[in-house]
Amino acid sequence: MKHTKIAELLKSDLFLQDFTVKGWVRAFRSNRFIALNDGSTLNNLQCVVDFENTPEEVLEEINVGAAIEVRGMLKESEGKGQRVEIEAKEIKILGIANPEDVKKTILSPKRHSLEKLREQAHLRVRTNTFGAIMRVRSQLSFAVHQYFNKNGFNYVNTPIITGSDAEGAGEMFKVTNFDIKNPPKKEDGSIDYKEDFFGKESNLTVSGQLEAETYALGLGQVYTFGPTFRAENSNTSRHLAEFWMIEPEVAFCDLDGNMDLAEDFIKYVIQYILENCEDDLAFLEDRLAQEDKSKPQAERSPMLLREKLRFVVENQFKRVSYTEAIDILKNSKPNKKKKFNYIIEEWGADLQSEHERYLVEKHFKSPVILFDYPAKIKAFYMRLNDDGKTVRAMDILFPGIGEIVGGSQREERLDVLETKMKELGVDEKELWWYLDTRRFGTCVHSGFGLGFERLVLFATGMGNIRDVIPFPRTPKNAEF
Ligand code: ATP
Ligand code: MN
Repeated sequence: MKHTKIAELLKSDLFLQDFTVKGWVRAFRSNRFIALNDGSTLNNLQCVVDFENTPEEVLEEINVGAAIEVRGMLKESEGKGQRVEIEAKEIKILGIANPEDVKKTILSPKRHSLEKLREQAHLRVRTNTFGAIMRVRSQLSFAVHQYFNKNGFNYVNTPIITGSDAEGAGEMFKVTNFDIKNPPKKEDGSIDYKEDFFGKESNLTVSGQLEAETYALGLGQVYTFGPTFRAENSNTSRHLAEFWMIEPEVAFCDLDGNMDLAEDFIKYVIQYILENCEDDLAFLEDRLAQEDKSKPQAERSPMLLREKLRFVVENQFKRVSYTEAIDILKNSKPNKKKKFNYIIEEWGADLQSEHERYLVEKHFKSPVILFDYPAKIKAFYMRLNDDGKTVRAMDILFPGIGEIVGGSQREERLDVLETKMKELGVDEKELWWYLDTRRFGTCVHSGFGLGFERLVLFATGMGNIRDVIPFPRTPKNAEF
């Protein structure tokens, strides 16, 4: 008999019919009530065991963590806490879980810290919290593809191994086939990369943007959604060494269009999970509210999780120029009282996350799009404004997260781009193909990068980016 998903049964009215379910035991009370979870939903199915007619050896192996199959009749439940239950007729043990061993793991039914759960990342998805997070993550990534598909974007897969290290978005991981103890050397003693697998130095990508741009200038509207790697030694709760990035790139689109796209996109995917992840979001909302209780008043979130999500969907993001933001920051209390770690003294300063969070959480109390940054603190490919000192860049800042999106209108003028590359020491020879796009049918175009895990952080209300990706990669940690 084919087995039925628990999510389906919990909604079903097919009473008195027989079903088979398969899942993992979350609890077994009084030798009679099994709470069974199969991952299809946060909620467990209660299976009522007829212990008099169940063999002793089966009863003994219905332990927390075991995989079992239950065949039985769907009934309206008499007990509180569930609408339906399965009256078991036959139980098969599919995979045992020894209680003594289970006790040593996070499968044991008690509260475990998030740190403890991280150490057992291979088992943590069997907890309510991680089941909920990972279902929300999955729904979000579906919504990402749906949004772009509905809006006429082409999904492109940019290379993961790249020969260019010019993007400058972060430190890169090297890719090599050399015996690192004994790489081929040139006469002058330096490593001879001509002998390496690709015949040149190669790295893991930090961004698919430059390649995506070339595709936008042919397909019109494209997006990437893939893994990116940054060897940055920043041990923060917002940075991973391996993360997933969404990078749309659009021809004939200026910075205003880019901001519109980013805002519309974020609202769409958040709305999608509000509609499709109700149980999981309700659970995560409670979790967050509980966690908040143990924090000092000032650090508590002023809104519940779903209120926060609805707020984003229903309100316009504030659009503020960098210059306005600097004025606000210069005159802010924490700046005057020297409470910031980095005091804002003058125009041109790079904003630290403390400044971004002040703008979003204290001043505007809303998502903020900052635009027109000083050219000096931004990448070479961003379009220079007529003032000669700012570029058409934009960052989207979110409450509790800081930067969630970084984007820009791209410099489409060959001469301006070349001058800029010379100034910044970006190798023109290496990026010959990128410059070609400005030689042949160049046009106004724009795009942005959104760190998927930062979006999942926001959507789930979690505080640490290590808890929204199945197996986090961070400095000194690549277990699993
Ligand atoms: P930050 O200042 O937070 O380090 P960034 O300026 O380096 O970000 P970009 O290079 O613009 O970021 O990358 C685009 C987006 O990718 C960021 O807005 C952010 O959402 C995400 N992102 C960047 N670095 C990381 C990282 N190490 N881990 C997870 N997400 C990241
Ligand atoms: Mn960074």
